Amino acid sequence: MERRQFIYATTGVAAFARIALAAPPKKYDLIIQGGRIIDPSSRLDAVRDIAIAGGRIAAVREKITADAAEKVDARGKLVVPGLIDIHAHAARVKDGPQLCLADGVTGLIDAGTQGADHIDEIIAIAKAAPQPCRALINIGRAGVLPEGDTMDLSRADVSAAREAIGRNREMIVGVKARLSQEVAGSNDWEVLRRAQEVASSFHLPVMIHMGQTVSPLPKLLALLKRGDIVTHMYAPPPNSIIDDTGRILPEVVAARRRGVVFDVGNGRTRHLRWDIADRVFKAGFLPDTISTDWTPEGRTAQVIDFPNVLSKFLMFGMPMGQVIACATVNAARVFPVFSGRGTLKPGAPADISILELKEGSFEFEDNYGNRRTGARRLFPSATVLAGKRVAPRA
Ligand SMILES: [Zn+2]
Repeated sequence: MERRQFIYATTGVAAFARIALAAPPKKYDLIIQGGRIIDPSSRLDAVRDIAIAGGRIAAVREKITADAAEKVDARGKLVVPGLIDIHAHAARVKDGPQLCLADGVTGLIDAGTQGADHIDEIIAIAKAAPQPCRALINIGRAGVLPEGDTMDLSRADVSAAREAIGRNREMIVGVKARLSQEVAGSNDWEVLRRAQEVASSFHLPVMIHMGQTVSPLPKLLALLKRGDIVTHMYAPPPNSIIDDTGRILPEVVAARRRGVVFDVGNGRTRHLRWDIADRVFKAGFLPDTISTDWTPEGRTAQVIDFPNVLSKFLMFGMPMGQVIACATVNAARVFPVFSGRGTLKPGAPADISILELKEGSFEFEDNYGNRRTGARRLFPSATVLAGKRVAPRA
């Protein structure tokens, strides 16, 4: 039944008179016209119109001529599902989620900024976020510390983390274990064991921050279960995912086979080096998800915005559809809070990123000051959240 008929049928003559005087209601709230729709969830890459009603995708068709309260001309632009960033530190600052939203990010995970002692601060910001935003709790009870989250092993406090999750079941969707030597020292294996102990009591995933660990990576991977996430997959040695001969470690391949997710986590320090990325791409081991490891400082250096991070993978020759999949449908599968998102299928929440793909000469920097030039760069152009347009990046 059309919306107008529904109103007639349920509210009778008085409503009819009121509607007859006003303009007739529009069939759709918003139509995005003429953009190149890239929706890996339905293997669609074609110029289409998208109609939105009641906060959901109503139709995706070649031409939608019906009335709409608002129309957006997206000709020459990419229209993709709202980007989902599974490794960000957006809840470190009050306006973090809003800043990410303007970059096209309609789903966010704050990945371990805080542990049990201060998780309430993160949760308050996540709850106030305009888009779905959840947190991973750092197994280190004091969160990210300059001297190392769990250098003092007593900070990896199982009961404190359990208690915090117990109080925030809706908002804490996993446990983060940062395992580099400068973060955990030689405690890495025990810290991860404790993180799993916490996570298993709630059936939650663990995200590990890999790279430059004391323990060999295979020893750590052995503790990971299906649905766990390895972030910073391009971290240089010691303990990369690839050995000196250019072979992906067999334990890494085996971990992926049993359902462990390999994530990018761009960040700014010691996580991404171009020569490692070259070798990993050459070995044919592509990321499952691309994430930013966003911080306020990252807005002006290396990370910049999510579309910029995605552009680096275009530079490495990943097809556009696959790059978008890593930031939409694949990311949505990692955490149940995003279930039904990361897609433009009719009926899905109308979370949409409109991006501009520019051609030219664009410089990208890894975490070690090495620069490379790419021929294409994605820029955020407009964001739609739950069917409503949001203000662009300032
Ligand atoms: Zn991080």
